Amino acid sequence: PLASREFHRENTVVNVRGHLIGGGKPTIMAGPCSVESVENIIEIAQAVKAAGGHLIRGGAFKPRSSPYSFQGHGEEGLKMLAIAREKTGLGIISEVMEPDKVGLVAEYVDVLQIGARNMQNYPLLREVGKAGKPVMLKRGLSGTIEEWLMAAEYILAQGNPDVILCERGIRTYEKATRNTLDLNAIPVVQSLSHLPIVVDPSHGIGKSEFVRPMARAGIAAGAAGVIVEIHPNPAKAWSDAAQTLDFDEFRALVDDVNRISAAL
Ligand code: PEP
Ligand code: MN
Repeated sequence: PLASREFHRENTVVNVRGHLIGGGKPTIMAGPCSVESVENIIEIAQAVKAAGGHLIRGGAFKPRSSPYSFQGHGEEGLKMLAIAREKTGLGIISEVMEPDKVGLVAEYVDVLQIGARNMQNYPLLREVGKAGKPVMLKRGLSGTIEEWLMAAEYILAQGNPDVILCERGIRTYEKATRNTLDLNAIPVVQSLSHLPIVVDPSHGIGKSEFVRPMARAGIAAGAAGVIVEIHPNPAKAWSDAAQTLDFDEFRALVDDVNRISAAL
């Protein structure tokens, strides 16, 4: 398989506007769960930049558990992200949920995100494989490592070599946390595959007070970076408020990530 170490011994490094994911320095991606307004995303993007982050995350198309919850601003949200990129020079990453929307989302973003719920949406994977943009593939809620790597294979097989894996927690019997961040996956994936793997401790644990220690743990386990949800006023975030960090908490996390990475 194209994702396997046997096929490709050297680690894949994904270049996003000059920032190298998997290039040795930890990648920091941060932003709101949902893009809310242009003012809000600019404020957040400036905080990401000031803290030394590399990519702005933000959902414009949201896979909400309830159909009555805010579904995202759609293309308007992508336009807001593009303005935040213009103001900061940082790259943007946003989720695409439908094969028909891949062309549209790819026009705006630097990295296409495939959400956990779509890890095995094979038509969508084929489409992002043809999009000509890097793809971050999140692990499915109950996806095994083997299934996840085969999902990456769908993208690679279309000729897109720029795939980043994201461990975002799996479903277990544990109810004290939203998900269980599977730190095991980091060294296991690295032995099986050349693709860079990052961690999402926000969705992985689901409670803001525990996000920083799990970001530290992910980096200590060898992850190429972290993706976290931040907001100037987490309690007011339109989605995933409980797991969202404020800017002070985010700066502390970045500091920890850089110190741990440098010590490895
Ligand atoms: C998100 O990144 O906001 C998201 C919906 O993540 P996941 O697909 O991992 O649940
Ligand atoms: Mn979220």
